[in-house]
Amino acid sequence: MRKAPFIRIPYTGPLPSPELYPRNANTIPGAVAALAKFLTAPPSPTLQDGVADPQSTVVLSGAGISVASGLADYRGKNGTYRQNKAYRPIYYHEFTANHEARKRYWARSFLGWTNLHKAKPNAAHYAIKDLGDMGIVRSVVTQNVDSFHSTAHPNLPNLELHGYLRALVCISCHNELPRGVFQESLAKLNPAWAAFLEEMIQSGAIDTENPGERMSKGMRTNPDGDVDLPGAPYTTFRYPACPHCLVNPPVSADGTKTIVEVDGEGAWIPPSTAGILKPAVIMFGESIPSKVKDAAEHAIDGSGRLLVLGTSLATYSAWRLAKRAKERGMPIGILNLGGVRGEELFFQNMPIGQSGEAGVRVEFGTDRVLPKLVDQLRRTGFAKSPEQADISNVTAEQHTNSKIFKDMLS
Ligand SMILES: [Zn+2]
Repeated sequence: MRKAPFIRIPYTGPLPSPELYPRNANTIPGAVAALAKFLTAPPSPTLQDGVADPQSTVVLSGAGISVASGLADYRGKNGTYRQNKAYRPIYYHEFTANHEARKRYWARSFLGWTNLHKAKPNAAHYAIKDLGDMGIVRSVVTQNVDSFHSTAHPNLPNLELHGYLRALVCISCHNELPRGVFQESLAKLNPAWAAFLEEMIQSGAIDTENPGERMSKGMRTNPDGDVDLPGAPYTTFRYPACPHCLVNPPVSADGTKTIVEVDGEGAWIPPSTAGILKPAVIMFGESIPSKVKDAAEHAIDGSGRLLVLGTSLATYSAWRLAKRAKERGMPIGILNLGGVRGEELFFQNMPIGQSGEAGVRVEFGTDRVLPKLVDQLRRTGFAKSPEQADISNVTAEQHTNSKIFKDMLS
């Protein structure tokens, strides 16, 4: 066990209102100009030696970038849960220890998946693809579990710090199962819920991206893609066992054989001691695997600057990466609506009169700014600049990095 485990926990302290850098970045054109300067400036004199690609930028993204895709943000401006004040995410220990908690989780997740599955990356994700193609962005570290980054820019290295919802992983044997397959199993095991889901789809409660409209139809959606249905009989919900463990119950650490039992239709039942499937996300209270943590640090260390997009850095794992960047002398740019945890630290000792090269703090939605930023960089002929040769090297290296990420995570 590590001395300081990298555990995903929500941060609930109040967040200060942001101070903008540079001062004139309070309009969209001002923000675009500052970010263009930030991304194209020569490597900062404060940057530590030995950075693989000091001219490049690493992106750290969060829930705010997916809001324009119709997914809810976790937090409002005061750092409180924006959408549903009563919402509290499930903790890893509750999920693994408690059959009833799992029923409740899967019932809500069953209803929420349709909406999440339908949602698509937005203009901000595609702007990051363009910045990658230009050789400006070298890699992405995301806290999001919606797979939008990998969909929008499959060739740009992308590290999913908190895992992904597109698959499940068995707690016992660690095999993965695609979420689509699992969703079909849930529908078969829970025909009444499947009928209700169908009804919600027909009524438009699931289709609408308007939370108010959804709530008026008796439904609340939370950021992890689960749905809150007041008064629903969660205790009747059934979920399948891991198909691998069902065939071959694993041997536990003390050498005893585990039990994996299902009812007549294949639903996991309580005498079982293994074969529990969980979403392939890092739940709150769960440790981030050291391979993922190392890969994230590697991504930060390989670039000369950090661009933080749509996140309040509320989770310690993400905040620590930004702090690491600061300690390495990397200029930091933040594009986020609302305050960011400990942001004053990132903008200490900003040179007077800097126009973005030493740091940027702007407060707009990512989908409003990033596409304009790409246009601006194209207009100024950035892609045709004398650094063209370097850019092609970066692109070649990006593919190598993709492999590194794969190796580190396999
Ligand atoms: Zn298993």
